[in-house]
Amino acid sequence: PSNAQLMDRRRAAVARGVGQALEVFIDHANNAELWDVEGKRYIDFAGGIAVLNTGHCHAEVVAAVQQQLTQYTHTCFQVVAYEPYVELAEQLNRLAPGNFAKKALLLTSGAEAVENAVKIARAATKRSGIIAFTGGYHGRTMMTLGLTGKVQPYKTGFGPYPAEIFHAQFPNELHGVSIDDAMASVEQIFKNDIEAERVAAFIVEPVQGEGGFYVAPNEFIRRLRELADRHGILLIADEVQTGAGRTGTWFASEQWPVAPDLITTAKSMAGGFPISAVVGRAEVMDAPAPGGLGGTYAGSPVACAAALAVLEVFEKEQLLARSQALGERIKARLKTMAGVVSAIGDVRGLGAMVALELFAVEGGKAQLAKPDADLTKRVVQLAAQRGLVLLSCGTYGNVVRILVPLTASDAIVDEGLDILQASLQAASQA
Ligand code: PMP
Repeated sequence: PSNAQLMDRRRAAVARGVGQALEVFIDHANNAELWDVEGKRYIDFAGGIAVLNTGHCHAEVVAAVQQQLTQYTHTCFQVVAYEPYVELAEQLNRLAPGNFAKKALLLTSGAEAVENAVKIARAATKRSGIIAFTGGYHGRTMMTLGLTGKVQPYKTGFGPYPAEIFHAQFPNELHGVSIDDAMASVEQIFKNDIEAERVAAFIVEPVQGEGGFYVAPNEFIRRLRELADRHGILLIADEVQTGAGRTGTWFASEQWPVAPDLITTAKSMAGGFPISAVVGRAEVMDAPAPGGLGGTYAGSPVACAAALAVLEVFEKEQLLARSQALGERIKARLKTMAGVVSAIGDVRGLGAMVALELFAVEGGKAQLAKPDADLTKRVVQLAAQRGLVLLSCGTYGNVVRILVPLTASDAIVDEGLDILQASLQAASQA
């Protein structure tokens, strides 16, 4: 069937609430390339939303999964346990920052990891309040939607959300929010909404993902940690999008000046298999009583096997160093592009988590007060026509994110960036 035929069937059969950025159906894929059902080739700069740090169908991940599938596919870790779960927990404990004993819990999706981090934080502190940040995104379940800052389109029509969730401002110099403003907004919450001594946790992304690839400044994190320590509040790093090597370290929070108490991670950790984790301070992780955590598929052996293979691939192919180098290469190229395409008002990122932000142009200059979501949509569509899969994001819908597999060659990355530049130029002229 063609893409158009499959689109018709999709419209008739699939709930429309499941959005779709491109009218493309995949046939097969390899590393940084995918082919649609009509045989058209695309370079994949979206990576299934930051899931494919080791690329599509990495041979070693595929082999590990095949081996696991034939040995045993499922038992449920809470009934008859298995070593790959324990081994993955050990690896995550070893990788997570912080000079203290750690434990881990495996789950299935990013949202589920965040849900469980909140449960654990509440059980450990015996407090209920959670402070999240504007522009933050934490998932599509009810609690994680409650934590998510942006309303449209995620939250519309689904409330009420769980109580005791508050939003402070995320520092964003580009859009006029200083670190002082952000800290003052936390103090305002303590004053107006909930006493600090009733707050269980802060939850923050090291780089806001869906919010637009804004990097949390180290100084902000340092002050948040200080405030947390003063009031007995836990600090949760939501690393669902930043984790698994995307930012040049396994966890982005390794680059923080202070350690979080809990980290949530998912997406790329198993190269495309659904698995997620909460990892952190052992005594905090052990707060819930036996039976309070888990789930039928949580930490599936097949996904564990994939995740352990991904860790080996990272080691063998030195993908953390590659993440840094790729990030530098892409950022340098985007900065050059900004000299040619006036609409590019900012280029930023951490490691290979890179984005550019597009604005209306007046007098030959990007107007930072006028985010251009329409232009961004045109760029994504034109790029797809030219064989490049891109993904936009941002509170204003005007950010183009670049999530190249870390296993991609320089040649493929450059080819993709050429298409990006051509698409930006064509879309700007339209
Ligand atoms: N937290 C963050 C920071 C995310 O980026 C996402 C997914 N975009 C989630 C949580 C939710 O993860 P999932 O879609 O796997 O539930």
